Amino acid sequence: MECQNYNITRDVERENLNLNPLQRGGILPKEAREALYDFGDGYSVCDYCAGRLDEIAKPSIGGFLEDLAKFLNVDDVRTTHGAREGKFAVMHGICNPGDVIVVDGNAHYTTHLAAERAGLEIIEVPSSDYPEFRTDMEIYQKALENAIDEYGEIKLAVLTHVDGNYGNLSDANEFGKICSKLGVPSLLNCAYSMGRLPIDSNGWNIDFVVGSGHKSMAASGPIGVLGMKHEWADTMLKRSPRHVKKEIEMLGCTSRGAPIATLMASLPHVIERVNKWDEEVKLSREFVANLEEIDGITQIGIKPTNHDLVRFDTPILHEISKIHPRKGFFLYEELKTRKIVGIKRGQTEWFKCSTYGMSKSQRNYITDSFKEIVGKFIK
Ligand SMILES: *Cc1c(COP(=O)(O)O)cnc(C)c1O
Repeated sequence: MECQNYNITRDVERENLNLNPLQRGGILPKEAREALYDFGDGYSVCDYCAGRLDEIAKPSIGGFLEDLAKFLNVDDVRTTHGAREGKFAVMHGICNPGDVIVVDGNAHYTTHLAAERAGLEIIEVPSSDYPEFRTDMEIYQKALENAIDEYGEIKLAVLTHVDGNYGNLSDANEFGKICSKLGVPSLLNCAYSMGRLPIDSNGWNIDFVVGSGHKSMAASGPIGVLGMKHEWADTMLKRSPRHVKKEIEMLGCTSRGAPIATLMASLPHVIERVNKWDEEVKLSREFVANLEEIDGITQIGIKPTNHDLVRFDTPILHEISKIHPRKGFFLYEELKTRKIVGIKRGQTEWFKCSTYGMSKSQRNYITDSFKEIVGKFIK
């Protein structure tokens, strides 16, 4: 057959300031870009494999997993193909179809899909109302107690550590306490936190943590992290009787090429940036304060924010869209001419964004640009 040449190129990240929260934590540092080049070929980490991906010595995947376990304070850790695959592995590994699990109201859609794929029923803990959408741990506890009363056994409780809509940071320590007191295994979804802020899984008494390499750990991905307490290793890392080296729930081998090579190469960089998280939050709060100087732009979610992902209600931008010849596209286009991207095209009533990793002057340039754009149309 004939096929066109897919000469694909991308300069979005090189040429612009990208506000898309999904992409800010997945930018590769130089050392990971080099690893990407060296390990771009398929099965590239398998040159010296003796049957166990997690024990490969060159490149040192075994050593890397030990470092990763220390970094997260978990007993055992494996890579998966993403946070969602980690959640599914836990749900599949420790629950049976028809079981009931409890999930917070800010859960990511992939938590729901993982549960659906595993044949589980979901009880949702409601979040607080507009504008905070907070996951209140007292309400979580009550919902969990009620679920236990009603169904007898709850096989898993899931909490979204930081959600992708509001950037709300939930109380993982309290969650771990509640779940262990009630005897329910806990899963903390750290897709937006692991690799950005410190994770102390055993310290918080959490059974399982999942993270996302391409979301928050400066990896090309797709790659995820699944950490657990040692007591779960027998179930989750059970080996095949036929293929005695292979772990069933991992389907033998998970990430085996550029995704894991970039995650490994980035780990020192990630450890260093996590140490600077407080500074990042401070800069994020300043960014919010500067944007809120515009009448008609207000941050929602927990205030002051504890994360770089922030969501704004923007009625003023919506007003402008009603009088602007380009309608709802004006914002995207005005920002694009200033080399700012990452806010959805056509959207003006609200947006979420992140300035994670940007310099102070880049952040100020962005807030100044918003002020200039609004000032052009509102006198
Ligand atoms: C992005 C995100 C996910 C999905 O992560 P993958 O690694 O792509 O599976 C899951 N949960 C939350 C809260 C997210 O923000």
